[in-house]
Amino acid sequence: QRAAEETAPAKPGVPGIKHIIAVASGKGGVGKSTTTANLALGLAAHGLKVGVLDADIYGPSVPRLFNVSGRPEPLSGRVLKPLEGYGVKVMSMGFMVEEETPMIWRGPMVISALTQMLREVAWGELDVLVVDMPPGTGDAQLTMAQQVPLAGAVIVSTPQDLALIDARKGLNMFKRVDVPVLGIVENMSYFLCPDCGGRHDIFGHGGARAEAERLGVPFLGEIPLTMKIRETSDAGTPVVVSDPEGAIAGVYKDIAAKV
Ligand code: ADP
Repeated sequence: QRAAEETAPAKPGVPGIKHIIAVASGKGGVGKSTTTANLALGLAAHGLKVGVLDADIYGPSVPRLFNVSGRPEPLSGRVLKPLEGYGVKVMSMGFMVEEETPMIWRGPMVISALTQMLREVAWGELDVLVVDMPPGTGDAQLTMAQQVPLAGAVIVSTPQDLALIDARKGLNMFKRVDVPVLGIVENMSYFLCPDCGGRHDIFGHGGARAEAERLGVPFLGEIPLTMKIRETSDAGTPVVVSDPEGAIAGVYKDIAAKV
């Protein structure tokens, strides 16, 4: 982290927030938001004060994952009170930009909305603020990564994307803005069969770990493809809170400990 502070252009921090980390992915649908939610809850389970900033303009899913909705109330002036789910403070692009707003308007609004969500929200004292980034590595993502004083980034990838170059693009994007990559999480790593209870390495095994090593970044862990993760996420009760002692929650908590 110190290295990042020395090399990054001065971006003022947010008073009260100790560390801001981004969760990013090279493309959509790889489980970035699911990982963000469970990682944040894993950090909270380790006793940290945690917030989540949902910056995914294309599909803000943090409100659903934390089972929170509504408009954040203004406290004083422009300062908004974040919503809260499972002890985690939550702000989402979904609260700020109407769903029907055409994408053409959303682009220019995004940076001001992001700045407001970061700096004009009563986050209070937080150990970690986890930012759910929009998928991809284009200009919008780069600008966001530049605007937020990030201590580091976690990249979520599926085994196929690692084989393709999406994860590598993510790494390069953060390199360009001098944000250290904290590591790669492999999601949908293997299939846990609900019928036979067996583990099926559909995409082979060990590729992600080897690729992370080759890229010189930590490998943070493998999350299985399971009904349980999908069902609990859709129900707004992520697996780390709905089955905190289970094996899958354990994987997320281990990842949280490494971050
Ligand atoms: P992204 O944020 O990358 O677009 P999401 O987190 O919204 O992806 O996940 C996309 C879909 O895949 C959701 O329906 C989610 O519940 C499901 N999903 C994500 N990770 C897993 C997993 N490990 N096992 C089963 N379903 C998953």
